[in-house]
Amino acid sequence: MEDPALRCECGSERANKHGTYDRNPHGREPVRVQRYRCLTCGGTFSPSLSYIKDDYWYPDEIRRLVRVVNAFTDASLERLQDICTVHFAVRPSDQQIRNWITEDTGEIVENDLPICSGIYTYDEQYLWVDGKRKYRFLLYDDLMGAPVAEQAVDDCSKATVREFLTAALDDKPVFVVTTDGRSEYAEIVEDDLGAFHHRCHFHFLKNGEKKLRNKVFQSVRYSNAEKLHAAIV
Ligand SMILES: [Zn+2]
Repeated sequence: MEDPALRCECGSERANKHGTYDRNPHGREPVRVQRYRCLTCGGTFSPSLSYIKDDYWYPDEIRRLVRVVNAFTDASLERLQDICTVHFAVRPSDQQIRNWITEDTGEIVENDLPICSGIYTYDEQYLWVDGKRKYRFLLYDDLMGAPVAEQAVDDCSKATVREFLTAALDDKPVFVVTTDGRSEYAEIVEDDLGAFHHRCHFHFLKNGEKKLRNKVFQSVRYSNAEKLHAAIV
């Protein structure tokens, strides 16, 4: 067998096909898995799937989404369930979600970075250009600590903001967008982007703990298995 993943627990790579069985991961199509019988020890084994751990019901992406949203927002358990329902058409139990958000966070890093995290902050600033008022839109990836998109425009109407955000996030994962309190923003985020809207950085700004915030980002990026949630609260 050429595939290095196809190896028996005993270390042998000599095996014959030995029937199939079906796996039904939540939020995914059922998948037929090939079983093998080891020619050395007689045990059976199957290849792992890339997107879900062996013996798990939920794909990794759903667990990660819940953990990241929980770490960076004050979403309730019910809200986390809603987010799963919106994005993956599944609804994990309270207990399931509790289990996920109390696990260590190392894996968030390895798998979610360095692509866009899905957790963003939108901000706008006033500028004066040749005596005229302009606006600068900025979209920032909270988890990556990097700007995603930036644009100078003449007005900051709801339509303009919507155009900016939908274009900037068109090909990216979008789970949570933090904005200031304008109610139009909640509508854009929830209706146009289908994401969870979060009003300002309540957790982070509450105590002016910039240092703590940096520590949290670091723990995500460098996989030191620190519990994000514990660090924030
Ligand atoms: Zn074996």
